[in-house]
Amino acid sequence: MKVSIVSLGCSKNLVDTELILGSLKKVGYEISPSEADADIIIVNTCGFIGDAKRESINTIIELAEYKYRGKCKRLIVTGCLVERYADELKRELPEVDSFWGTGNLTKIGEVLRKEKLKKIYKSPPGTLYDPDTPRILTTPSHTAYVKVSEGCSRTCSFCIIPKMRGPMKSRPVRSIVEEVKRLSDQGVKEINLIAQDMTSYGRDIGTNLETLLRELAKVEGIRWIRILYCYPWGFTDSLINLIAEEDKILSYIDMPIQHINDRILKLMNRKTTRSDIEDIIYRLRTKIPDLTLRTTFIVGFPGETDREFEELLEFIKEVRFERVGAFKYSREEGTKAGEMPEQIPEDVKEERFERLMETQSEISLQKNLQLIGTVHEAFIEGVESNGYLARIPSQAPEVDGITYVERNRRLSTGELVRVRITGADIYDLFGETVSLPN
Ligand code: SF4
Repeated sequence: MKVSIVSLGCSKNLVDTELILGSLKKVGYEISPSEADADIIIVNTCGFIGDAKRESINTIIELAEYKYRGKCKRLIVTGCLVERYADELKRELPEVDSFWGTGNLTKIGEVLRKEKLKKIYKSPPGTLYDPDTPRILTTPSHTAYVKVSEGCSRTCSFCIIPKMRGPMKSRPVRSIVEEVKRLSDQGVKEINLIAQDMTSYGRDIGTNLETLLRELAKVEGIRWIRILYCYPWGFTDSLINLIAEEDKILSYIDMPIQHINDRILKLMNRKTTRSDIEDIIYRLRTKIPDLTLRTTFIVGFPGETDREFEELLEFIKEVRFERVGAFKYSREEGTKAGEMPEQIPEDVKEERFERLMETQSEISLQKNLQLIGTVHEAFIEGVESNGYLARIPSQAPEVDGITYVERNRRLSTGELVRVRITGADIYDLFGETVSLPN
């Protein structure tokens, strides 16, 4: 029996997809790259905000077509959308054979093999795993995501994630280290650490991110360790020093800030202030001079005034982040902010989103132009007709730009090379290989 899976949403969902694939393979299913050829199709959904929910629903409806005109006998829907709307989905999408939330995903293979399927499988949200859990990587062979914890114990007023993924549960340091050792044995060189709230890692099990990073830096064969999804909290001086001093830990920090105005931060229940955030950025920039700082902002949060939005724009111009992602506030039922008065009209959100991204695109271009002439390590990500796709340390997979490398020698995907930057645009870079790293 052939199974095909479509993975939507964030990198944490992608790891869940890889665990589902592992559980299917373990019980003898063949993984098919194409839905058209599959007996079973699984859609691992995202249920975060409006746009993501729409994409999930449209994907399910599109793939259901294979049940009418293809080989597909079973259509299974998993993930965050199910965690939020299992009963509504069951009512609205009769073509789906079974719905499975975010919990217990490592058991799907067994259940599909053994049982007559139930319509809904519900278990405590969130799936954690250990090094022995079967997992099939879907990323290029030199890079992998490692989920260090599941869920989130914070209560940001706009966010539904704690309801879809449960409270934060950290994996033990030894479990993560053992997984990374095995990934290194498989040839993985770049580890992208992910969580909902990275800097709170270990608070629930008596350890912390710094301890984890110290152990991971000892793993042989790993070249790059990247830290994603940090909350603007928990950046002790010793953690920052470790990031600054340890070569393997990239000078790359992804730290969603969401806003900078104190009144809005309070309404968002972020439990942090403008001066806290400025202090963290100042210490990061001072101790890690070549830092690539990525962040995310929400525009159009309920009650956000023109003056508060201008304050955010001014802050972005001052700090000059290397990478900025932005979301238009999405009113989500089941969140405190969803009940707040003064919801902002969509056209105003759109206008603020455009202005923020325009402001950032100017900064991004200037920063990229400053890289011309500099030399960096780079992983070859793929081969194109006129050259190679590569990523340098300041380019995270999927969310950041890419470096287009001239074809001045024969290279293969996963190779680590040194690249001199020869050109730049707003998000991407252009370069030539200079030598192979020592
Ligand atoms: S820290 Fe992130 S995942 Fe957790 S509640 Fe806040 S926004 Fe949501």
